[in-house]
Amino acid sequence: MAEYQKPVPYPSPETQPFWDACKRHELSLPYCTNCSAFFFYPRQFCPTCFNWNIEWRTCSGKGALYTFAIQYRPQMPGFTPPYVTAIVQLDEGPRLMTNLVGVEPAPENIRCGMPVEVVWEDATDEITLPFFKPSQSSQ
Ligand SMILES: [Zn+2]
Repeated sequence: MAEYQKPVPYPSPETQPFWDACKRHELSLPYCTNCSAFFFYPRQFCPTCFNWNIEWRTCSGKGALYTFAIQYRPQMPGFTPPYVTAIVQLDEGPRLMTNLVGVEPAPENIRCGMPVEVVWEDATDEITLPFFKPSQSSQ
């Protein structure tokens, strides 16, 4: 695999299941069995009730664009502007920091609330990144 030009995350024990699932092209989030709710980012206990009974559950990979910014200057080496940084509100509840892809990065093409779905970028042998693109249903 060609060397990936952008920085990649270093999984921690808390986030390893998330990245393992990404590698399988599945979006999996921690779920508190006491609150009956997902949360993110991954922690060893629920941030709402401090319960340690956490499960990992696969999510739909669907959501809505909560907010975004079109980046015209690269923040780090390896990024080619313009590109879109985004926060996605997942159907399951939590919000994810990500990039919006699969759309020309121009203000007239992107709106808050637009339906989005996960797509995968296999960055390295170990890390697959979850990005989001506009859902087909929104076109
Ligand atoms: Zn909880």
